[in-house]
Parts: sequence; C-alpha cells; structure tokens
Amino acid sequence: ATNLRFAGTDKTYADGTVALTGVDLEIRQGDFVSVVGPSGCGKSTLLRLASGLEEPTGGVMEVDRGSLAYVFQDATLLPWRTVEQNVRLLGELHHLGKGETRRRAAEAIELVGLSGFEKHMPHQLSGGMRMRTSLARSLTLAPSLFLFDEPFGALDEISRERLNSELLTLFTTQEFAALFITHSINEAVFLSTQVAVMSGRPGRIVGRVDVPFPYPRD
Ligand code: ADP
Ligand code: ADP
Repeated sequence: ATNLRFAGTDKTYADGTVALTGVDLEIRQGDFVSVVGPSGCGKSTLLRLASGLEEPTGGVMEVDRGSLAYVFQDATLLPWRTVEQNVRLLGELHHLGKGETRRRAAEAIELVGLSGFEKHMPHQLSGGMRMRTSLARSLTLAPSLFLFDEPFGALDEISRERLNSELLTLFTTQEFAALFITHSINEAVFLSTQVAVMSGRPGRIVGRVDVPFPYPRD
C-alpha cells in the first residue's frame, strides 16, 4: 500500500517563493525514506505538505492523514504532566477509553526504553529521554506513516546514535513507513531503505539511492 505519494508536486508560498518543483516521491508500507540536502532546498516544506500544514500549489499529493504521526525536533511535552501522562495524551484526545489508553501507553513506554521513568516530569529527563517520550506518545496511535523533521538534531552525537539505533529497531519490529528529514548523510544511510537527495532553489529531488537491505542492519 502507498502511504504517501508526491507526483510532479510544486509548492509556491504566498510571498512568491518557489520552494519545491516537480517532486516525485512514493512511500509504501515498509519504506523508510530519508531526505537529505542543504538548507533551503525545501525539506521542511515537503514535510509540511505531507502533514497538511501547507497545501501543494501544483501536481499531485496523496496521503492518509488519519494514520500519520509528525515528530518534531522539540519534543513538545506538557511540562505539568508526567511521562506516562504525556504518553497517554493522544489516547485521551482520541477517546480510546481509559483501559485501552493505559495499555497502549505502557506498551509504548516499554518499546522506547523508558520503563521505570513513568512518574518522572519532563524537566527531570534528558533531551534524549524527552524525545523518546514524544516517540512513545506517537506510537500509542499505531501510525502507519511517521514524518520526522530532524528529530534528533538538537542532541549530542552519542544520544543521537543511540536513538537512531533504537528507531531502526522500532522500524524493523513495528509496522510503519517513514519520511525522515536530516542534514546527516550518515544518519540517512544508517536508517533508510532509500535516501533521496534534494538540491537547488527551487528544491527538487536530484538523486536517489536504495540502501541494500541487510546493510547496515547486520
Ligand atoms: P529546508 O527545510 O530544506 O531548509 P525549507 O522548506 O524550510 O527548506 O525552505 C525552502 C524555501 O522556501 C526556502 O527558500 C525558504 O526560504 C522558503 N520558505 C520556507 N517557508 C516559507 C514561508 N512560510 N514563506 C515563504 N517562503 C518560505
Ligand atoms: P541524552 O540523549 O539526552 O543524552 P539519553 O536518553 O541517552 O539522554 O540518556 C541519558 C542518561 O539518562 C543515560 O546515560 C542514563 O543514565 C539515563 N537513561 C536514559 N534512558 C534510560 C533508561 N531507559 N534506563 C536507565 N537510564 C536511562
């Protein structure tokens, strides 16, 4: 199944800035696509289109927003709620019921390696742990597509590597597709089944590399 498809997609902002032109990109179940490229080439715009924050101005874009999760760099946790209360938030908003919300939150907290930290407040956590809490919160809705916008960009290198490994494990054990924006080609190759390279003003996809599957996972 296709989770996200751009075909000849263009985006011109209201002020006339042409941010994207002729973007073709398809993400199916089981794909982890990273987009790399210099600042200003339209990576964030691509994610804003996928998430519905912006509308394309030309071409085609298809996405099922009902099962989409958007993970930003600033893990936006509610500071007055504990880890588990933060992770339960989406279940509560979607009226999944108290028992189901608790069950899913507990499972997600375990998946991201935060067992034992349920009662901690966000300010007691490291940046990496806050990001994991945010990931866990998204996982409770079992999204079929994750959009990641430089999610670990603010973390130090060790934390970043650790989280990348954990994300890769999550991706290989849970069922979701991903579009991952990053400045780091290493990170892109490590995580992805495909790396798309964007460049230019306006931005376009100038190259793609399929990452052979067992590498670097073995
Ligand atoms: P990247 O994420 O690769 O740095 P962006 O998608 O943020 O690139 O930006 C692509 C281009 O669109 C840039 O020229 C940027 O200045 C411009 N741009 C981004 N957001 C807006 C906006 N809201 N209005 C006008 N121009 C924008
Ligand atoms: P950051 O990415 O901000 O450096 P990490 O998530 O890597 O933070 O964790 C920083 C520290 O927090 C770790 O060195 C460890 O002491 C503690 N920590 C993080 N996650 C766990 C965990 N699941 N179990 C026990 N300690 C943890």
